Amino acid sequence: MKPLILANWKCNPKTLKETEKLFKDILKGIKNIEKAEIVICAPFVWLPILKGIKLGAQNCHWEESGPYTGEVSALMLKDLKVEYVIIGHSERRNYFHETDEIINRKLKAVLNAGLAPVLCIGEKKGENAQEIVLNQLIQDLQGISEKDQGKIIIAYEPVWAISTSGGEICSADYAKKMLEFIKQRFNGKIIYGGSVDSKIINNYLKIGYEGALVGGASLKADEFINTVRVVE
Ligand code: PEP
Repeated sequence: MKPLILANWKCNPKTLKETEKLFKDILKGIKNIEKAEIVICAPFVWLPILKGIKLGAQNCHWEESGPYTGEVSALMLKDLKVEYVIIGHSERRNYFHETDEIINRKLKAVLNAGLAPVLCIGEKKGENAQEIVLNQLIQDLQGISEKDQGKIIIAYEPVWAISTSGGEICSADYAKKMLEFIKQRFNGKIIYGGSVDSKIINNYLKIGYEGALVGGASLKADEFINTVRVVE
């Protein structure tokens, strides 16, 4: 299976013009690269203009529609041909107070819509990684059948390694121990996230992660293209 590389643009770029430029440059650069499955997880408003690439969203609501001002549902995303939805990113957990109960409801909504959820789990600096990750797995996956769990992609992201919240590089040994720990409890695809760029992506792929979630490096077309190009 090809590694799955998801660009997480977060709340970027700021303008339509900048978005068109970044997208055009990325598309041109990855045109002939076939060794990875590449997905761009863009802000909702930019999704309809990104044509010719697999799309992901960064969040969604747990209901299909209704009186939820400001929300976007998984069904709406499906209609835009979005295939992946990031759920439970640490920034949503921290800044928008998303609890594991909310994340569980969102995961179910994404699965019900027939899309692939990318569930982010991981500990903050100083926390017991295995304890946090185990709790997140138990609570986030509650009531989801084994079969449906197989459709979920887990992104292990130590929060302290995310470029905007510490940006320490997570060693391969540490990441491997966590991968093995998660594998004992989860049967699907597991990818890595945390300051991934062209210099370090293979450190994580080599030890068994099946892809990467790329934040900061996906906002620079050249760096993102290189990150995909160097995949071994
Ligand atoms: C992320 O926030 O999901 C992420 C991986 O960010 P970065 O690559 O910038 O650390």
